[in-house]
Amino acid sequence: MALLSIVLPAYNEEMMVERAGERLEELLKREKIDFELIFVDDGSRDATWFKIQDIAKKHHFIRGVHFSRNFGKEAAIFAGLAEAVGDCCVVMDCDLQHPPETVIEMYRRWEEGYEVVEGVKHSRGKESLGHKASAGLFYKIMTKATGIDMSRASDFKLLDRRAVEALLDMPERNAFFRALSSWVGFRTTAVTFDVQPREAGESKWSTWSLIKYAVTNIAAFSSAPLQMVTVAGAFMFVFAVIMAVESLARYFAGHALEGFTTVILLLLIIGSLVMMSLGIIGYYISKIYEEVKGRPRYIISRTVGEKNRTLQAADSCYNEGRN
Ligand code: UDP
Ligand code: MG
Repeated sequence: MALLSIVLPAYNEEMMVERAGERLEELLKREKIDFELIFVDDGSRDATWFKIQDIAKKHHFIRGVHFSRNFGKEAAIFAGLAEAVGDCCVVMDCDLQHPPETVIEMYRRWEEGYEVVEGVKHSRGKESLGHKASAGLFYKIMTKATGIDMSRASDFKLLDRRAVEALLDMPERNAFFRALSSWVGFRTTAVTFDVQPREAGESKWSTWSLIKYAVTNIAAFSSAPLQMVTVAGAFMFVFAVIMAVESLARYFAGHALEGFTTVILLLLIIGSLVMMSLGIIGYYISKIYEEVKGRPRYIISRTVGEKNRTLQAADSCYNEGRN
């Protein structure tokens, strides 16, 4: 009997943990799918961890992982995948914006033999205009950088055990889950879903955290900014040659002083370009530094529920569902 692991990253989701657990339990038991739920508390400041402990004590098929501080959603996803023992794993938001019914659809695809099932957004749900525009720009860049259409991609995915192992084997720290899951390959298909409105609590993404997320992931997946510097440098060189010819001509014509403006302009432009290039190079060096340090991606401070127990426990939950 195949076991489905569902990984649910949760950051300040005290209102949603229980609700998500109940919805998934009801649905999966009805569909007679053997499952385990892994809640990863990403260092929440509210009662999320207590709620997770509560439901994990009540239900053998629920386990919890608690981070020592907020490490971000990507880290939470990887922790959950590392903790999961299922034959396939679904990653979904615990605010139920990813409809639980779609999990069933994904699971059926997995049964058909697909190893990666991507959740693709049919509609993006309610978002502010500014958010929509900046998200649009981010996805355009990511699509270019990764060569994978990212505009409707989401973190809602099903991964076969093999794909999970491949992901976990990657040593990189700045892993961008959304793109890496297609990067690993395997037999892939997609299911579409409508982003649901959030039932309780609020979105954890401030504008600043979104900008950070975008910059990190663009750098994690492409060295295009580095090449942009080279291209800009080439253009500047052509421009410089033209300017040089022009000012030489002026010099020989006898009104050299007029070129003073040009010199200042050139200094400014080149100066700023050099500074920008240094900035970009510095950014990549900082990334190299981070990778070289080989820090763990996250630190787990506590867990609830036992890993080895889950298989038999989930077995009995399957039987319960059947009776
Ligand atoms: N999340 C997390 N760590 C964070 C931010 C968010 O684990 O630092 C989780 C959050 O609890 C939720 C999911 O990631 O389950 C998506 O977050 P949210 O709903 O705030 O994002 P949105 O749906 O608005 O894009
Ligand atoms: Mg959400």
